Amino acid sequence: MTSQQPFPKDDFCIYYVLGERADDYTIPVNEADENQPHLQGVTGLRNLGNTCYMNAILQCLSSISPLVEYFLSGKYITALQKSCSEVATAFAYLMTDMWLGDSDCVSPEIFWSALGNIYPAFMKKTQQDAQEFLICALNELHEALKKYHQRRSYEKGSTQRCCRKVITNESSIITRLFEGQLSYGIICLKCENCTHKSEIFTVLSLPIPSEYECSLQDCLQCFFQQDTLTWNDQIHCSVCEAKQVTAVRASLSKAPKIIIFHLKRFDIQGTMKRKLRTDIHYPLTNLDLTPYIHPVFRKHPKYNLCGVVNHFGDLDGGHYTAFCKNSVSQAWYSFDDTRISKIPKTSVQTATAYLLFYSCQPFSIPIQKCKS
Ligand SMILES: [Zn+2]
Repeated sequence: MTSQQPFPKDDFCIYYVLGERADDYTIPVNEADENQPHLQGVTGLRNLGNTCYMNAILQCLSSISPLVEYFLSGKYITALQKSCSEVATAFAYLMTDMWLGDSDCVSPEIFWSALGNIYPAFMKKTQQDAQEFLICALNELHEALKKYHQRRSYEKGSTQRCCRKVITNESSIITRLFEGQLSYGIICLKCENCTHKSEIFTVLSLPIPSEYECSLQDCLQCFFQQDTLTWNDQIHCSVCEAKQVTAVRASLSKAPKIIIFHLKRFDIQGTMKRKLRTDIHYPLTNLDLTPYIHPVFRKHPKYNLCGVVNHFGDLDGGHYTAFCKNSVSQAWYSFDDTRISKIPKTSVQTATAYLLFYSCQPFSIPIQKCKS
């Protein structure tokens, strides 16, 4: 419903024509008082020319306390890979400016150009997909901060060398916070042979099962329901030694601490492109992922919303904003580039949501320095 949107959509068109928004065009609730001292983490970001997609993502990342604390505390410095430290260093400086600076608004230009050196598409001053930007940003932070771990596991009742398995994996603050694992159960419907495959993810792209209205749970059910693969989609069965009709079902074998949902609003089929404007209802607290998590891994199945990226307008244009919960004030804020307003909880649910950030643990205020 448009009545729940903090900004009527049409006003954004006017905003674009004028190039800057006049005060009359927004209906911010409890506009931040200019005489109030600057609140930690509530800092606007300058638009560098169609970079609202980046600003919305950076605001959501800046609301994730454990991530911010990792950078503010200086812990990132010991993990930093010398060969690709530019993006992570720029991110650390930006988080420091946003959390410890005195300014109501800062420029993300150094981070933007560091990432743009690796992904030139972002250097063009054209609108980009916020989800793609998020994945690239998380990838680069992971590459800069990853460590290799070798785990030795012995098989039960034996310590012989031949039974020792060495598993090498990479871990970073990014994988520790955002990485989950999907497990696919694949059943041949001819011989009932069952196999498993797993896949890691940092963003879960959810289908939208309705054109008008549905819930986030409907999207999740649609994603995790059993799928039957027929005709050209049949999978080769190693027992039958032929392609067979196959049933596939996904479950979460590892749920990340922070789970990011990408709502697949951009529907592209061949040359047909459209944006789904479905009003998707999502809870602010207690999103229960129990039905989708493998029973062995159900440790913290309840999640609370901490950030939303909104998309207004159409596929080729439009505008991004973010709603984020601040860990200091525990209040929600709307971030529209340099423009910030405090919003009530009831305004956080809108039909413009494109990315949702949920955490299974409450956030505390990020600590600046390590206690040594
Ligand atoms: Zn088979």
